[in-house]
Amino acid sequence: TAYDIGLGIPAEPLFRSRELLVTLSIGIAIYPDNGRCASDLLRNADSAMYQAKALGRNTYSFFTKEMNITLLRRLEVEEQMHGALERNEFEVHYQPQFDVKNNNIIGAEALLRWHNPTLGSITPDEFIPIAEHTGLIVPIGQFVVTQSLHFLNKWQKQHGKQYRMAVNLSPRQFRDTELITFIQQSLHDANITTDCLELEITEGVLMIGQSYIDNALKDLNKLGIKLSMDDFGTGYSSLSYLRQYAFDVVKIDKSFIQGIPKNETDHELVNAIIAMAQSLGLKIVAEGVETKEQVDILTTLGCDYLQGYYFSKPVPAKQLLAFSRDFNH
Ligand code: C2E
Ligand code: CA
Ligand code: CA
Repeated sequence: TAYDIGLGIPAEPLFRSRELLVTLSIGIAIYPDNGRCASDLLRNADSAMYQAKALGRNTYSFFTKEMNITLLRRLEVEEQMHGALERNEFEVHYQPQFDVKNNNIIGAEALLRWHNPTLGSITPDEFIPIAEHTGLIVPIGQFVVTQSLHFLNKWQKQHGKQYRMAVNLSPRQFRDTELITFIQQSLHDANITTDCLELEITEGVLMIGQSYIDNALKDLNKLGIKLSMDDFGTGYSSLSYLRQYAFDVVKIDKSFIQGIPKNETDHELVNAIIAMAQSLGLKIVAEGVETKEQVDILTTLGCDYLQGYYFSKPVPAKQLLAFSRDFNH
């Protein structure tokens, strides 16, 4: 049996008088079906523990053969990811965002794409967590920042508009002590004003509860960089987070947007999120907008900005330039 104890200790010395939360994840491999020697059994118990953690921790899992297939794929992706940046296998795509009031393009979200000669195209949902795990997300994330800001400069110049760029940041990137200076330098190099950059984070970042994250978010805010709460509605959707940190934008998760035409509860929830965010002075982006019906409902509900396949898929830089040129005419 492999087990792993997760101990959550708040960063501050205050924790002395606090209750500590201990979780246990257990992976189980059984002799002789799951291995005939100790090392095989341990390795497979370890895979099972991975699964227990993926299930949300604080649970147990029995080893299955499929777990090895998942593990092999993970190792393959990890192996190919080393050097992928140097081999120019990554490309940033851009998905435009629209103002509900006048239908103008206000900016875009940068979304990373990876094409590898051996593995083909790998989705961000698969490779981002692996990049996070290995720490490769730091150089890869820097690539996204520099690429998207240089593109933004070109885009703004060509159209004479103050478009903004939204870039996703994952938790691991906050552990990079150079994060803030890197972003500042990149803005400077690309000649972009701080208010045109928006960083998208999920609640997961805030739930880490470390002081370095608080400090980084405060520093970004002081610089005038915008902060956006991604995937809102899926996690705890904590109102106190929205108040505690200087968010400018809330992005309603696409699962709710998909539900609004038919599902009464989703409709009510989106209505409530918009009312609440607006009373806090935040702008609301609805993501995953795919139909005219959704556009109409979101317009009626008073949503500020829309993003989704209805308008455009994420596209390469050149294509976005062409798209927004045609769109403006
Ligand atoms: P996300 O930040 O929630 O990004 C939105 C996802 O929804 C994107 O998936 C986008 O292509 C997709 N999407 C946009 N419009 C529609 C629509 O109308 N319908 C549907 N069904 N989907 C739509 P994508 O590009 O596969 O990215 C998946 C996730 O990977 C992102 O979710 C984000 O968490 C992560 N990711 C992507 N690029 C980066 C990056 O540069 N850095 C980091 N840290 N994470 C990234
Ligand atoms: Ca996002
Ligand atoms: Ca999202």
